[in-house]
Amino acid sequence: MCAARPIYIDYQATTPVDTRVMDVMTPFFTEMFGNPHSTSHSYGLEARDAVEAARVQVAGMINADPREVIFTSGATESNNMAIKGVGRFFAGRKGRMIAPVTEHKCVLESLKYVAKLGYEITLLPVGTDGLLDPAAVKDAIRDDTALVSVMHVNNEIGVIQPMAEIGAICRERGVYLHSDAAQAAGKTSIDVAAMNIDLLSLSSHKMYGPMGVGVLYVRRKPRVRLEPLMHGGGQERTLRSGTLPAPLVVGMGKAAEIITNETDADHPRIRDLRDRLMKGLQQRVPGTFINGSLDHRISGNLNIGFEGIDSEALMDAVKDQIALSSGSACTSAAVEPSYVLRALGLSDTDAHASVRMCVGRMTTSDEIDTAIAALSAAVTTLREADESRLRVHTA
Ligand SMILES: *Cc1c(COP(=O)(O)O)cnc(C)c1O
Repeated sequence: MCAARPIYIDYQATTPVDTRVMDVMTPFFTEMFGNPHSTSHSYGLEARDAVEAARVQVAGMINADPREVIFTSGATESNNMAIKGVGRFFAGRKGRMIAPVTEHKCVLESLKYVAKLGYEITLLPVGTDGLLDPAAVKDAIRDDTALVSVMHVNNEIGVIQPMAEIGAICRERGVYLHSDAAQAAGKTSIDVAAMNIDLLSLSSHKMYGPMGVGVLYVRRKPRVRLEPLMHGGGQERTLRSGTLPAPLVVGMGKAAEIITNETDADHPRIRDLRDRLMKGLQQRVPGTFINGSLDHRISGNLNIGFEGIDSEALMDAVKDQIALSSGSACTSAAVEPSYVLRALGLSDTDAHASVRMCVGRMTTSDEIDTAIAALSAAVTTLREADESRLRVHTA
């Protein structure tokens, strides 16, 4: 009846909601619909209890105390809250923030905002493997540094930053460490205690939970000080006013519980699928290159370039068969090459020739084989078309 849907290998853009997550959410939309802050009756109380249970589940995933878990609308809000919140609290007393150039746009834009409050922003380069050198963080810290912000896992190339080393440096210098861990949850272990992380952002829809909910972890000991973005009823320890979306929070809690219990079992399978995809493409397509460290990388990510190919044309050619992504950003004027790939030293041409794929919990090996066939055929066709154009020109 309906045409086959394209194969989804874009798990870093978003993930499907796990059916087990959906099942626990549903009653909170319909029967148990109470406001979790209305504690004068059983409707509110059951919603509140469910929210508190979810807080425990999320805390368990990152080795935190449940009281340190603040629910937000997603990682964008959490990142804004951490950077602007610390920036506003220490405005006039501290004067610097540090981050690698490969951060997500919402971190970079929040840093631009605190620059207007008077902070000097130090953006650190990364190596050709995409990794940040902890020694560079150490050298950049000054007495007036308020915050270092380092993403745990990069959303384009999937590399895992050395959080524990960076955390040790920040703690020694008494500087807050914030980490955007939207791409890390369920893909690599997060331990805010062992890694000395003071603030950490999570996004439910990147971890098989629903869209529209996330978390900011805020350390209690030593206590992290920040101004709230939202003022109102004083929910979430006054840090984030507004009615919590109880069904979504419950879903995020279940998603975290599944990750805590199952991630280790899921990883080898996902890594095998990613390796099958990578090797299949390398075998079938000449002139490929891999972007970013393969050793320090989440198991599902593949960022691969095809020499001479325009990634937009490639994605267009396969869009009925495969859902994948290019790192490029469409601005109103033109397609800009990925600033992450540029930071690894890639030329504009090579950055434009690269695509991002990410395998996930629901991916099958049949899907990988179909993806390899579709992509390699499309690259061949595009290159042949280019060659015949060249021949016409030179004739
Ligand atoms: C998806 C993502 C975000 C934004 O998360 P939302 O919950 O969609 O706002 C921030 N940072 C990284 C690294 C991401 O991958």
